[in-house]
Amino acid sequence: MATAVTHIAALVTNDPSLGDGPLGIVHDAALVIDGERIAWVGRTADVPATDNRVVAEGRAAVPGFVDSHSHLVFAGDRTEEFNARMSGRSYTAGGIRTTVAATRAASNNVLHANAGRHVREALLQGTTTIEIKSGYGLTTEDEARSLSIAAAHTDEVTYLGAHIVAPEFADDPAAYVELVTGPMLDACAPYARWIDVFCETGAFDGDQARAVLTAGARRGLVPRIHANQLSYGPGVQLAVELGAASADHCTHLTDDDVAALAGSDTVATLLPGAEFSTRARYPDARRLLDAGATVALSPDCNPGSSYTSSMAFCIAVAVREMGMTPDEALWSATAGGARALRRDDVGRLAPGARADVVLLDAPSHVHLAYRPGVPLVSAVWRAGELVRS
Ligand SMILES: [Zn+2]
Repeated sequence: MATAVTHIAALVTNDPSLGDGPLGIVHDAALVIDGERIAWVGRTADVPATDNRVVAEGRAAVPGFVDSHSHLVFAGDRTEEFNARMSGRSYTAGGIRTTVAATRAASNNVLHANAGRHVREALLQGTTTIEIKSGYGLTTEDEARSLSIAAAHTDEVTYLGAHIVAPEFADDPAAYVELVTGPMLDACAPYARWIDVFCETGAFDGDQARAVLTAGARRGLVPRIHANQLSYGPGVQLAVELGAASADHCTHLTDDDVAALAGSDTVATLLPGAEFSTRARYPDARRLLDAGATVALSPDCNPGSSYTSSMAFCIAVAVREMGMTPDEALWSATAGGARALRRDDVGRLAPGARADVVLLDAPSHVHLAYRPGVPLVSAVWRAGELVRS
């Protein structure tokens, strides 16, 4: 049973062959959802007959947001740490240990329900595809169960046993890397598509990160990496060298780092919620875009450094603070995220794509940045199913 959505004031398709500009915008637009897929896109005047019709009444439509970076398998929260930070203390990688302790102590049911609640929260705000990482277990058993829980909520599952060195291995990080690349990898690989590592002072250095990612790649997991977040470092160059799908954070970049990203297929995924929530310097999206790099945006939802699931918030910050135009930010939050996950069925609204459609209570997608903090998402379809109306 097909549904036509008609009288869309401005439809962002992300397909330049279908409409105006790089976003392929169609005015007074309609689209037809048939099963899980988009069957037709065009002008309302030309829409084919269907059983159901939704009149969008002057609202804009955009592809569902594609969030390529989240940490949703956790227990507890870090309100106290945030409060202290906002009272003057700085952010370091060490706070992750607080969540590791809470996550290890939590039951499967608690972790499952918590992940589901956050996936739902993101979905109702327009995020129809979400990647979820492990990384708060840091034992073979706790990482494997984190990934099995993540896999119940998404197809985009990332093994992040190398989030930080597990507390038990504080005096012998090399032994922890052996665990992460050995028995823990064996237990985790069946649940995951991706492998990730936090390459940073206080987490893993360049050699350790290389060992983790290459071990994962040998098991068929595709690398992605937390790189150059808190300081300059080898992460971005390593990502490009290993053909990682994405280098995430990219806050402290040399000219060589920017050139390497621009000359590669590795997406630069920017996570401005982290800088917002840690009062840190934002990544320079303008510099990356001007160099020709592909940029994605993600909220980086996690209980420590960025406890937001709102892609709209990230779009507003990216436009206001990171030099992106509203069009670029919308593209990065949809098609850019799809590139970072190497997906071509999401992040666009064209015939054959998955029917992930978001209606906004606004005449244009520009309002996502123009009206920060306002809940503009008024309807969401995911794979053709109306999940919010
Ligand atoms: Zn992260």
